[in-house]
Amino acid sequence: MALWGGIEAGGTKFVCAVGTAPDKLSAEIRIPTTTPDETLGQVVEFFQQQQALHGEIEAIGIGAFGPVDVNPDSSKFGWFLNTPKPGWQQVDFVGLVKRELGVRVGFDTDVNAAALGEHRWGNAQGIENFIYLTVGTGIGGGGMIGGKLIHGLLHPEMGHILIPHDRSADPFPGSCPFHQNCLEGLASGFAMEKRWGQKGVSLPADHPAWALEARYLAVGLVNYIFTLSPQRIILGGGVMEQKQLFPMVREQVLEQLGSYLDVPAITQNIDSYIVPPGLGSHAGLAGAFALALAMAE
Ligand code: ZN
Repeated sequence: MALWGGIEAGGTKFVCAVGTAPDKLSAEIRIPTTTPDETLGQVVEFFQQQQALHGEIEAIGIGAFGPVDVNPDSSKFGWFLNTPKPGWQQVDFVGLVKRELGVRVGFDTDVNAAALGEHRWGNAQGIENFIYLTVGTGIGGGGMIGGKLIHGLLHPEMGHILIPHDRSADPFPGSCPFHQNCLEGLASGFAMEKRWGQKGVSLPADHPAWALEARYLAVGLVNYIFTLSPQRIILGGGVMEQKQLFPMVREQVLEQLGSYLDVPAITQNIDSYIVPPGLGSHAGLAGAFALALAMAE
């Protein structure tokens, strides 16, 4: 059985694994995201050990936090670009992995990787147009249009769309250093913690924080629905593990759409239109495997 590798490269940790499939892992490691030298050094070391133990790895798939260059024709393909993460700007991630490990590398954003995992094994199977939005420390979005992962000028930055902000109802100025009132600045886990003085996970389910959160997320989703016409929306990430949010977001989306989009998939089946990832918190790593498998297809 061929051996594949996956790297879920996140802002707080890198999850690396090898196996014959994402549910058949022979080894997995979590490495804190510190400096590129330290973190990427440990990543390379892990895969070198696995190569020494098991032999050749067919390909490694990487889903990375951004912004990153995902254009295979670019001279900076696989680089971290001007990420706000200190020390990680202009780092040639894919080049290092290829050079040190001598393997083929599939590369995309963390959210596009998760979307690919959901398309292959999760809640987007058989669906050609969908969005995967992760609501965690930050907010990021990816997905497919016409059965292909969404790329373009760079890649989508769905977390930074601008959101109407009523400062009398919500005086919090927003947590994004680039935009005062983007979705990430108002509705990420980081924004919740800054606004309420404690992590979202410690706020009770009936706290007003959740109604506000649902409203902001719904504004974002309504804009994606009108611009991209997704057939399904998958909401993942740590904040969405608060399951009370799903019915609140669905209700807000219906309210904000008004009666304009009279589409049964939304008006009659909202519970199967806005859904959690079928792969749960494994979507990212599974997606990295899917990127590796795609290298052989
Ligand atoms: Zn922003």
